[in-house]
Amino acid sequence: MVDIAAIEKLRVTMRGAVLCPGQDGYNTARTIPNAMIDRRPTVIARCTGAADVIACVCFARDHDMVVAVRGGGHSVAGKSVCDGGIMIDLSTMKGIRVDPARRTVRAETGLTLGEFDRETQAFGLATTLGVVSKTGIAGLTLGGGWGHLHAKYGLALDNVIGADVVTADGRLLTVNVNENEDLFWGVRGGGGNFGIVTSLEYRSHELGPVFGGTVFYPASKAEEVLRFFREYSETIPDELVIQCGSFTTPDNTPVFAVAACYCGVPSEGEKVLKPLRTFGPPVADAMSAMSYLQLQSMFDPFFPPGRHTYVKSNFIRALDEQAIRAIAGFAGKSPSRFTFAPFIEHWHGAATRVGVADTAFPHRQYPYNLMLWSNWESPSEADENIKWTRSCWEALHPFLIEGSYGNYVADEGDSFACAAYGPNYDRLVGLKNKYDPSNFFRMNHNIKPTA
Ligand SMILES: Cc1cc2nc3c(=O)[nH]c(=O)nc-3n(C[C@H](O)[C@H](O)[C@H](O)COP(=O)(O)OP(=O)(O)OC[C@H]3O[C@@H](n4cnc5c(N)ncnc54)[C@H](O)[C@@H]3O)c2cc1C
Repeated sequence: MVDIAAIEKLRVTMRGAVLCPGQDGYNTARTIPNAMIDRRPTVIARCTGAADVIACVCFARDHDMVVAVRGGGHSVAGKSVCDGGIMIDLSTMKGIRVDPARRTVRAETGLTLGEFDRETQAFGLATTLGVVSKTGIAGLTLGGGWGHLHAKYGLALDNVIGADVVTADGRLLTVNVNENEDLFWGVRGGGGNFGIVTSLEYRSHELGPVFGGTVFYPASKAEEVLRFFREYSETIPDELVIQCGSFTTPDNTPVFAVAACYCGVPSEGEKVLKPLRTFGPPVADAMSAMSYLQLQSMFDPFFPPGRHTYVKSNFIRALDEQAIRAIAGFAGKSPSRFTFAPFIEHWHGAATRVGVADTAFPHRQYPYNLMLWSNWESPSEADENIKWTRSCWEALHPFLIEGSYGNYVADEGDSFACAAYGPNYDRLVGLKNKYDPSNFFRMNHNIKPTA
């Protein structure tokens, strides 16, 4: 137990608010978008900058508290909030400075993707982030960052050129190719295992309007769409990113849709995307030239906060005929009309040309990532939806590799975490031994120290 006097002392030290149960704002601050997660930290510290973060780390260490770190709060595993302990909340740290001459962006880690994109687009620039604008840049980038620009410019973490990290001993370290290079390698894929990242510096790229959107086919055509998707994906240029899958439209129609973004000249994108829009009669075609900001918020209405979410995900070994038939068999079958499953992201281009050991993020060689992203509204629907997601995953398991993209999975225990880091795991354990030997930062897909 932490006594009230100690919390009061932290409150006086901090520039940001310190909230305890019963205080105004406490319940809002502990609530994350995934309603499956309902936890009550002893203290929530809303940091305003690195000094607050250092104060929180020292406080947690002195009182032997569990630490959860919240960026955008979108961890589907609920890792950004703890029961008891301290939630170090970075979500009000929204400083950002774009340097148009160097095409770099220094961003604090409470920013969401939408906030980041808005600032960079003011200068006609962008970098790879995810595809739902309310997601936090921090968790997304530290764990990977697949999005509409990954094939042209690499994953979000491939664009990181530096970071400030508060380590378990309360130091603030600058990491980049010249300083603390080992930690620079580790934060690009190791999630929050080594410290609290207070700001990230990104490379950015010129980007004007794009051509993209979604084309919808009936769920019953899933097999044909998947077959076309596989063949088409083998031919596309780095400018184009595609994904496909099963979901239900707001008017309750089960569809198997393909979403796309072409980030080169829009008129060229229209030509490149023609085969995708004409290979069969679609139910609807919502593709056009649009601003990048419009495209980046296209999925937002499908992911409102407050739904219950359970996700399983693994890369597909080979999208062969057998796999296609098995995946298509689950299209339109989820018990919930808010679910996106089965869904497949295509990974290619620049992100897959980075070496497995060049960053801590190992997933560079499998082009198709399967997601079973189940969402529902009422707690009473949990059993049915989790059971369906697991049975779908069991049936598809023979077609999947062991490792998965950690940002997409619920809490599945230690062996899962180990597989998620793949061949980089042992090197990551070495870094953990060096920077966090007591496993102070363990609310994450955890790399266990052995020292
Ligand atoms: C609706 C939705 C859409 C998504 N779309 C995509 C997508 O298109 N592409 C993609 O790649 N991923 C996507 N994701 C997955 C997303 O990348 C992860 O959920 C990611 O963890 C979210 O980051 P966050 O900062 O919002 O989450 P948080 O829950 O705040 O954090 C996630 C993890 O990172 C740690 N962390 C957060 N900030 C810091 C920090 N500053 N320093 C150290 N550790 C920190 C947390 O402790 C936690 O372990 C999506 C998730 C959701 C829910």
